[in-house]
Amino acid sequence: MISFDEPVMTDTSLGKQMHSLATMMFPICRSITGNGVRQTLNILKEEIPLVIYEVPSGTKVFDWEVPKEWNIREAYIKNSTGEKIVDFKNCNLHVLNYSTPINKKISLEELKKHLSSLPDHPDWIPYRTSYYKENWGFCLTHRQFQNLEDGEYEVEIDSTLEEGSLTYGECLVPGRRDEQVLISCHACHPSLCNDNLSGVVLALKLAQTLRTHTLEYSYRFLFIPGAIGSITWLNRNQDQAKKIVNGLVLACLGDSGKSTYKKSRRGNAEIDRAAEHVLKHSKSEYDILEFSPYGYDERQFCSPGFNLPVGCFMRTPFAKFPEYHTDADNLNFVRPEFLADSFDKCIEIVNILENNKTYINLNPMCEPQLGKRGLYRNIGGDSAENVSELGLLWVLNQSDGSHSLLDIAEKSGIVFQVLSKAAGSLVEHGLLKEVEYGQ
Ligand SMILES: [Zn+2]
Repeated sequence: MISFDEPVMTDTSLGKQMHSLATMMFPICRSITGNGVRQTLNILKEEIPLVIYEVPSGTKVFDWEVPKEWNIREAYIKNSTGEKIVDFKNCNLHVLNYSTPINKKISLEELKKHLSSLPDHPDWIPYRTSYYKENWGFCLTHRQFQNLEDGEYEVEIDSTLEEGSLTYGECLVPGRRDEQVLISCHACHPSLCNDNLSGVVLALKLAQTLRTHTLEYSYRFLFIPGAIGSITWLNRNQDQAKKIVNGLVLACLGDSGKSTYKKSRRGNAEIDRAAEHVLKHSKSEYDILEFSPYGYDERQFCSPGFNLPVGCFMRTPFAKFPEYHTDADNLNFVRPEFLADSFDKCIEIVNILENNKTYINLNPMCEPQLGKRGLYRNIGGDSAENVSELGLLWVLNQSDGSHSLLDIAEKSGIVFQVLSKAAGSLVEHGLLKEVEYGQ
């Protein structure tokens, strides 16, 4: 069981570890398919027992089809003097992700039809994709765009878009129960950091941490390409999906913004309540968002045919920070201390799921005499065992077999950990009995 008394990691060393893992994976040109994802998953596989799956292009997955595989070697734009003015080697965002191959000389007017830039942020390179419509293009800073002179340009994109496969990784951390908690993150973005290497490294560390504990639930970690990855996984794992009793999509967890939890479609699932409880008692600003069918892979997990209790945990939501989908979402934008803070909150959420038990008061006729058991203070403060008296009284009063500790926490306003500790003491003193799972 995860212990409340010893925080798994509260210093920033874990934040630094996550940041350096992100640093290692940052340069890789990922996409929804291709060698960039494989390379990334192979790095993760050195850290956790990841099973890597390949699903062939053309495989039908519900209303979708696994696309052709995309790989890229180089890309550039040369001006009329032969100078490379935009080069994929300098930044992989320079190429429209999923660009078809091209090599030709074109006019400025023709070239401009294939360029994207950001007039409001003239020094940033945008990130653009064209997964499901064949196209080619380049992204550049607006300053670069404005400096383009009339003349002939050579465009070269040395890419392939052909039959191959979609790659995703899965890691199961077994617990006592077959019921599963899903932790999912998208691992398909090229050199962008908050979206979503932050989610990838956080999920990785969470898996590593949980593997060192005895767990109640089994935890299924997914490292998948956004949208098509979750659609593919759900299509291939409809029986497994039935075992999911709680879940989190992890995204954008390393920026300086406040923690944000977006509820599952159900709205009142245990995961929704656990996340809200953690944020409410976190002593820092937070946001709780109602479910909406827009965002990350919770869109698929919460589609009506599945309606899984899966929420999304993040800091600043996507598209709400100006650096989103630009080269300014980089290793400086994501800080170790914010990764560590997000990790701590995830662990607290897991703690609640793991320990949200229901008890029966074995001495329900009036209050038991706590003083003679050393559970009640003599003069002020908490009891000799350092257990909250109010916590003891709430747990005793509500434990009739129908209220979980999270129910009691919500009703009393007392933090879950305090109640969990109180319940532990009461069990030790023979005053409380856990309602065993399955009864
Ligand atoms: Zn994104």
